[in-house]
Amino acid sequence: MANRIYIVGMGPGSEEMMTQEALHILGQSEVIVGYTLYIKLLGGRFPGKKLLSTPMHQEEERCRLCFEESEKGKKVALVCSGDAGIYGMASLMYEIGKAYPDIELQVIAGITAASSGAALLGAPLNHDFCVISLSDLLTPWERIEKRLHAAAIGDFAIVLYNPSSHKRKDYLMRACDILLCSIEDGRSCGYVENIGRDGTKVETCTLKELRGRKANMFTTVFIGNSGTEIINGRLITKRGYQIEKSTDICRDN
Ligand code: SAH
Repeated sequence: MANRIYIVGMGPGSEEMMTQEALHILGQSEVIVGYTLYIKLLGGRFPGKKLLSTPMHQEEERCRLCFEESEKGKKVALVCSGDAGIYGMASLMYEIGKAYPDIELQVIAGITAASSGAALLGAPLNHDFCVISLSDLLTPWERIEKRLHAAAIGDFAIVLYNPSSHKRKDYLMRACDILLCSIEDGRSCGYVENIGRDGTKVETCTLKELRGRKANMFTTVFIGNSGTEIINGRLITKRGYQIEKSTDICRDN
């Protein structure tokens, strides 16, 4: 039987936010490979496993490690934060995997930052939405700008991944400036930091305020659509139901 490598989304951080399937697969694996920080986060949860990590920007090496271990006959799992198929390693594994036709790959879904962050904020993605990464490491900034303009014109609720890093401190501000070309400055927005980890922070604000806020590499940003409202401190994008006002209901009763 062909060897199989599992590409596992481990959710935003805490074990409660990992799926049963992911926990089961990691429990069955002999070798767990991942980014240094995520291997640390898994910590003592999986004693007796061979844990291998590579730092950021060594993604190709990380993937190759998986194939090398699998060729030795080991049961290998590659872990990614959130979902491995959303700005994760899943596609790179399939690309590199072309050279290893005897090794099967299987992706195990995880909870991505868009949905775990949305849950903390309320319901900001309850209508059509799009996800845009502000990282220009692998995507030219001009293409990112084009997508931001298009998302704003399409009146999508928008989720921004990778809104900032050490080298890209002003990218959130630049993105807001682009959005402000076609979105009013009072648009309801929000952001979440450190979902499922120590120091979780959840904030709502207007688009104008968002422009001046500091994001880091563990922030996910939400921009509402034209109908999004902040209701009791929560960011809510409505589906469009015509609900009766509670005063009318009282009168009828
Ligand atoms: N595969 C991941 C995304 C990796 S891209 C997923 O599906 O969630 C990295 C970006 O994801 C970060 O810059 C941030 O915008 C978001 N992110 C990942 N984990 C996060 C967390 N615990 N809290 C807040 N944002 C997070």
